[in-house]
Amino acid sequence: VRGGRDDDQATTSIRVVRGDITAVHADAIINAANSSLLGGGGVDGAIHRAGGPAVLDACKTLRATTLPDGLAVGAAVATTAGNLPAQWIIHTVGPRHSTTEDRTDLLRSAYTRSLTLADSLGARTVAFPLISAGAYGWPRHDAVNVAVDAVTTATTDVDVVTLVAYDDETATLIRRALTR
Ligand code: ADP
Repeated sequence: VRGGRDDDQATTSIRVVRGDITAVHADAIINAANSSLLGGGGVDGAIHRAGGPAVLDACKTLRATTLPDGLAVGAAVATTAGNLPAQWIIHTVGPRHSTTEDRTDLLRSAYTRSLTLADSLGARTVAFPLISAGAYGWPRHDAVNVAVDAVTTATTDVDVVTLVAYDDETATLIRRALTR
């Protein structure tokens, strides 16, 4: 699947893998964090467990310096990846799903701002979980559509975006959305 810029040869390949994001090799692994940056469940818990204490230390330093109020929804920040097979973790905060307010732009922004940060770091391969589709309650189908739309239309120098599906059904949904 091709996306990204349509000038020169800057195309981005998008691939899908099923499994645990902490096992994926990429320059940057995206964390579906919360604003506190101090850990949580789901992807966040798995990344902190696998990354080790250096990741939490880096997050605490961010909170003590540039991000005293935490990371805004839709924003992204990078830390060391600790023991993970990656150079960086890019922490982003997806919006909680709401039935009264359309927060699609914030979810898109979690993807696009992560890619912009990846560009500024020089990361050429990045892996995303399905942001906001767990504890933050987005219907999986909607979360997949926003993710695929965001990464296929983004302007980025990233060569390979891996979308990590935690289960087979999610992998199938992502593959289907990519072929539309
Ligand atoms: P959020 O709080 O943004 O909703 P979650 O981490 O709760 O984030 O869940 C996001 C998605 O990631 C869900 O689809 C969940 O099934 C999936 N997920 C949970 N753990 C992992 C993991 N270790 N690797 C990849 N995906 C995971």
